[in-house]
This record gives sequence, structure tokens and C-alpha cells, in this order.
Amino acid sequence: MFELEYWQRQAAMLRFRDRALIGGRQVVAQSGQTFAAINPATGACLAQVAACGREEVDAAVLSARQAFESGSWSARSPTERKQVLLRLADLIMANREELALLDSLNMGKPVMDAYNVDVPGAAGVFRWYAESLDKLYDQVAPSAQNVLATITREALGVVAAVVPWNFPLDMAAWKLAPALAAGNSVVLKPAEQSPFSALRLAELALEAGVPEGVLNVVPGLGEQAGKALGLHPDVDCLVFTGSTEVGKLFMQYSAQSNLKQVWLECGGKSANLVFADCQDLDLAAQKAAFGIFFNQGQVCSANSRLLVERSIHDQFVERLQAHAEYWQPGDPLNPASTLGAIVDSRQTARIMNFIHGAQEQGARWVCGGRKQTFNGSDNFITPCIFTDVRADMRLFREEVFGPVLAVSAFDDEAHALKLANDSVYGLAASLWTDDLNRAHRVARQLRAGTVSVNTVDALDVTVPFGGGKQSGFGRDLSLHSFDKYTQLKTTWFQLR
Ligand code: NAD
Repeated sequence: MFELEYWQRQAAMLRFRDRALIGGRQVVAQSGQTFAAINPATGACLAQVAACGREEVDAAVLSARQAFESGSWSARSPTERKQVLLRLADLIMANREELALLDSLNMGKPVMDAYNVDVPGAAGVFRWYAESLDKLYDQVAPSAQNVLATITREALGVVAAVVPWNFPLDMAAWKLAPALAAGNSVVLKPAEQSPFSALRLAELALEAGVPEGVLNVVPGLGEQAGKALGLHPDVDCLVFTGSTEVGKLFMQYSAQSNLKQVWLECGGKSANLVFADCQDLDLAAQKAAFGIFFNQGQVCSANSRLLVERSIHDQFVERLQAHAEYWQPGDPLNPASTLGAIVDSRQTARIMNFIHGAQEQGARWVCGGRKQTFNGSDNFITPCIFTDVRADMRLFREEVFGPVLAVSAFDDEAHALKLANDSVYGLAASLWTDDLNRAHRVARQLRAGTVSVNTVDALDVTVPFGGGKQSGFGRDLSLHSFDKYTQLKTTWFQLR
């Protein structure tokens, strides 16, 4: 069923929502400004989308505040909110092909990845938080007989979410599902590269029964719509996923305005450590390739630094090179394509700059890193591997956000840990060993929010996701993410 021609036919019939959704109504920007949403795999302009500014952000926050105060969502019982969010999960799956196509056309990922991974992932997140809602209990403090002290979790009010383009639907779902489950109202700003799935998702939320004003979407440029949300005096909490550079700006915006809570999921340069005592080196090599090349390498927790014990280094790189062959770019609508297009020409140029820079700095080129052209677009890069990458090179230190792997050799466990932790980031790490003691020892010493042992980049809605150092703070997914979307209230009843 899923052949290239099928997806092409579906794509030709697709409708792109190009307006903001505020208070349940689709609106254009008052300024009349728009921005072009480009398909990076063809260069075609898909639509001119409303570029929201201060006016729209003010209207969206006001609408969210009024909805929150009205209790139309915030005061509904957990069971009622659960039913609505379960319906939304069902609607996401009912519109699976459309949502998959929107993300694929908008940011270049293979449509089958969006269909098999992103869309069911988003539905699963809504379903999981819906199911969790009516199973959360609050606390009673151990107080004296004449006191009843309760510790309850309350919704914050208006949550703003600013998200990136690499997993447009999923990043929105990771923020929206727990924020809405907790009873908040939300203003979502998708990345300017990928507004469509968020706009469609908000329509589906209305259809599922999320009341008007509870979920608003303001597409727009970061420096306009994103900044206006960051500085808004009536936003209680701002959750962000994106680059470290912009994450730092949001902390400034908060300090300059109302000291809103800010939670950041930022960049990474995650290390994957392969020890010589790992029995299944072929699996390790296959997963190492997946860990860097999936989604064109545009994954915040991509295992972009591979650290290999020197005694197995050469044979491991050979295996790795063989597995890299699997990841070949092609038309994202072609189910045979394992890699799609890079998100835009700016990002393509940035990645190519890293590749040229690595060669100039003396890293040894192994394979890939070539631009390819499909359907008139040259936003395609073959999977690239460099070895002999030293800790002082840019490729070791900076996030590329593309299909480029930096390989370095280590001599022993202490050396491996030193290299792995030598980063301003602390998002994720993986390690491969069949020595149980080493697995525990190394996992404990790796400075990362998630450590995956004998796999790469483990991820599930049941476990928290996020990092330390300049990868940010706070966690998405799992029950722990409610810490971001609720605040604790102590109520002290002094009894007579
Ligand atoms: P980005 O920081 O450029 O943009 C993210 C969002 O911030 C977008 O919506 C953008 O419009 C907005 N923004 C940009 N400039 C702004 C400004 N001056 N003021 C306010 N808002 C602004 O990031 P990106 O290029 O969209 O995404 C790539 C980055 O996201 C990478 O660094 C990646 O590691 C990170 N990321 C992190 C995670 C995580 O969970 N840790 C997940 C995915 C992506």
C-alpha cells in the first residue's frame, strides 16, 4: 500500500493550515506578515503562514488565561479530562497519514519514520498522560492531632511551550500532554520550519473536546512570537526545547519580565562508549550507526561522539562503516529512503561547514559527508564518519545536528570517562560492555540525564528525558514531568 506514488497522491491532496489558532478561531497576523514554509526535499513553498507577533501572543495568552479562570478545563474532574485526552489520542491515530505527511513535507524526514515512529509516539504520550490523570494522589503531612496539613498539586495557569523542528509533532505532544493533563491552558509556538502538525493537532484537540482557548497555537519567528512569549507578564511557566543558545535567552526573558518558571531541554554531544569486553560488537556497531544517523542526525540526544577502546578500534570502525551503508538519503516520500532531507539549506550549509572544518583540523575522513541532489534540492548529506577526532576539535565539542559521527579511541576506563564527560553538555550517554561491574561503575560516573547500557538512546514515555549541564534542566515524559506543570500547595488546617 505504502508506495512512493501513494504518498505523492496523498501529498498532492494535503491542506496546510496557515493561520494561528487562538480562542478556538483561526486567525491571520494583524500585521499581515507571513513566513514561507518550505519543503526542504524539493524547495517548494508549501504555504505562507501567519507570522504571529506581540498582538497575537497577547491575544493567545489572554484567551488561555480566561479559559483557565473559567474552569472549562482546569476545573473539570480528572476523569473527564482523561476522556477528552484519550479521544485526542484516538484522533491522532485516525489522522496518522496526514500528520505523518505534514511533518515529512515540512522538515524532510522519511514519511515512513513519521508514520511508524512520530505519530504513534505522539498518540501514545497523550494516551499515557490521560491514563495517569485519575491515578495521582496528593499527600497529607505527618502532623499533630489538632492539625491537618495537606500537600496538593495545582495547575500553574498559563503554560507557554516553544518547540523545535526535528520532531515537530512529538515535541509538541511531550509538552502539551502533561500540561493539559494537569489542567493548564497552553500557548504553543512551533518552530518556523515546521508549523503544520502543531496547527492540525490543535484542531484535533478541539474536535476531541478540549474547550476553546485552552490550547492556542501561534506560529511565528523565534525573535518575534518566541520572544514575546518569553517576556509575557501573564505566562506562568515557559517550557522550551531547542538550542542551548536560545535556551539561555529564555532565562533572560524570564528575569526581565515576571520571573516565570523556565524549563529547558537543550542541545547535546552525547558519547557512546564501546569497551573491548562487549561481546556483540556487530550489534554495537549497528546501534552506533542508528544512534547518529536516525532522523538525519537531527536528534538532541544523538550519540554523536563514539569512543572506542583502542584494541578494537580499527575493526569496530570497519563494522560501523558497513552499517552506515544502510543510511542512504533519498526522497522522503519513498518508503525505501532511510534518510530524508536536512531541514533547510542553512542547516545543510552548517553541517557541510563542520565536515570541511574537521578535515582541516586533521580528523581522518572515513566515509560520507557528500551533498546529494534529489528532485531539485541539494539538502541531502550522506552519512559521514571521522576518526582520530581529538578533544580540542570542534567536531568533538560542538553540536552538529546532522549525520556526522566523531570517533575517538580510548586506552582504559578512566580515559573513556574523561573523554565522555569532557563536554559542556550532559544529555545522554551509551555504553557497551559485558562486564556487569564495569556497566554499573561507568554508568554511575557518566554525567548525563540518561545512560543506556548495551543499547543506544533508550527512550520511553515511562522514564524521564532530559539532561544536565548546558543540556538544560527539568524532565520531559514520565510522571516526573508533572513537576514542571504543577506547583505544590500546603494547606494547614488548625483544628479546635
Ligand atoms: P532553536 O533554539 O533555534 O529553536 C527552537 C525554538 O526556539 C523555535 O521555536 C524557535 O522559533 C525559537 N526561537 C529561536 N530564536 C528565538 C529567540 N531569539 N527568542 C525566542 N525564541 C526563539 O532550535 P532548533 O534549531 O529549532 O532545534 C535544534 C536544537 O534543539 C538543537 O540544539 C537540539 O539539540 C535541540 N533539541 C533538544 C531536545 C532536548 O530534548 N534536549 C530535543 C530536540 C531538539
